[in-house]
Amino acid sequence: MSGAGVVCAVALGSNLGDRHEHLSAALAALGSAAGVTVERVSRFWETEPVGPPGQGRYLNAAVVLTTTLSARTLLDLLQRIERDRGRDRSDGVRNGPRTLDLDLLLYGQQTIREPGLEVPHPRMLERPFVLGPLAEVAPDLVHPTTGKRVESFASICPGLVGTEYSGPARGSSLPPP
Ligand code: ADP
Ligand code: MG
Repeated sequence: MSGAGVVCAVALGSNLGDRHEHLSAALAALGSAAGVTVERVSRFWETEPVGPPGQGRYLNAAVVLTTTLSARTLLDLLQRIERDRGRDRSDGVRNGPRTLDLDLLLYGQQTIREPGLEVPHPRMLERPFVLGPLAEVAPDLVHPTTGKRVESFASICPGLVGTEYSGPARGSSLPPP
């Protein structure tokens, strides 16, 4: 790892609007944030939505970063980036469609249970679309409340995430030869 501070993992997801653009913008925002060094970025995976019917497929990814920010300040940053990409929570629908979802999965080996901030993320071990990308970038990170390596969870959900996404189709926007 090249940056200073605590090693963290963040999950990214989008299933509304220009999904590739939302994830790319989130990575750029994390990369330029003070106190944050992005260490590794997974591939983008296209996955089936979980939650209410009628929503589109997700793009998911995971990053490992090092940070000198507190967990709470890092969560504030993640939520600000979500808002900047038009994230609207006003419908109150759990697992509903979203332009951008950024979840703090791991913050070093810390366990935090506070209003509005739980780390390790309480639902991460149930979610192949989180574990798959995370195992790509951080197979050796230890999940502190179980003491197990990330890789050990990823291997129990074979078939894993979905389809690797190679980016938006560009053919029609290319200038003529
Ligand atoms: P989810 O990501 O589980 O689908 P939301 O993105 O709507 O749900 O998040 C709901 C709330 O979860 C947020 O208001 C946030 O304060 C809280 N939360 C608690 N712990 C975390 C965490 N580790 N990462 C992201 N959000 C968290
Ligand atoms: Mg979230």
